[in-house]
Amino acid sequence: MIDIHCHILPYIDDGPNSYDEALDMAKGAVEAGITHLYATPHHFNGRFENKKDKIIENVAIFNDKLQKENIPLIIHLGQELRIHREIFLTYELDEILTLDNKGKYLLLELPSFEVPTYTHDVIYELLLKGITPIIVHPERNKGFMQDFDELIKIVQRGALTQITSGSLIGHFGKKVKSFSQKIIEKQLAHFIATDAHSTFTRRFSLQEGYDTISNLYGMQQMYYFKENAEILLSGENLSIEKPKITRKKILGLF
Ligand code: FE
Repeated sequence: MIDIHCHILPYIDDGPNSYDEALDMAKGAVEAGITHLYATPHHFNGRFENKKDKIIENVAIFNDKLQKENIPLIIHLGQELRIHREIFLTYELDEILTLDNKGKYLLLELPSFEVPTYTHDVIYELLLKGITPIIVHPERNKGFMQDFDELIKIVQRGALTQITSGSLIGHFGKKVKSFSQKIIEKQLAHFIATDAHSTFTRRFSLQEGYDTISNLYGMQQMYYFKENAEILLSGENLSIEKPKITRKKILGLF
């Protein structure tokens, strides 16, 4: 399996605190059936700064260590970028790292309590540059919980979303769990990933997430998510489900 969102590189964010811990995480990922994993350190979230060059360097070192330890896991390049107004300035400065450094997909994080007003502009500008933003864990965003139409608009305009496997299995409470299901049912979700930070909290529960989807919605829905991650890794084009939106009644005419 492929995990597109995870904090496995040591020392650089709220992931592991040492190479030993990071290697333990890698072993855990392999045991959980993961073969390819995108290292996506936080960038610009107010606590951590991890620019493109730094991540590239760290991923190379870690892949080397994995090889030496004979751990069959391949780490791919990524970054979890917190949305901000100056995103395009930092893009020009070459600080932003798209998945696999291919300039096609970018993990974009919104603040947990709101959807900033400039979100739509940022998404639009990114799409113009040929970069599709993948909004991470929209199910944990209070703004989307209060205004579901915001999420619909964002997906209709071309952004993709990633649900965290832990949300689906109840690690973040009932509200988040049921909101994850609503997002999937409306076909507004495109990827499942672990967002793992350690071997204990927020671990590699990808298979459990897929099993939950399979039980609730059937194998086909589960394969849709699994295959999207595979297609993303292969660099081919994704074929995305259209959102299931019911038209609102207008003056009782419909
Ligand atoms: Fe994350």
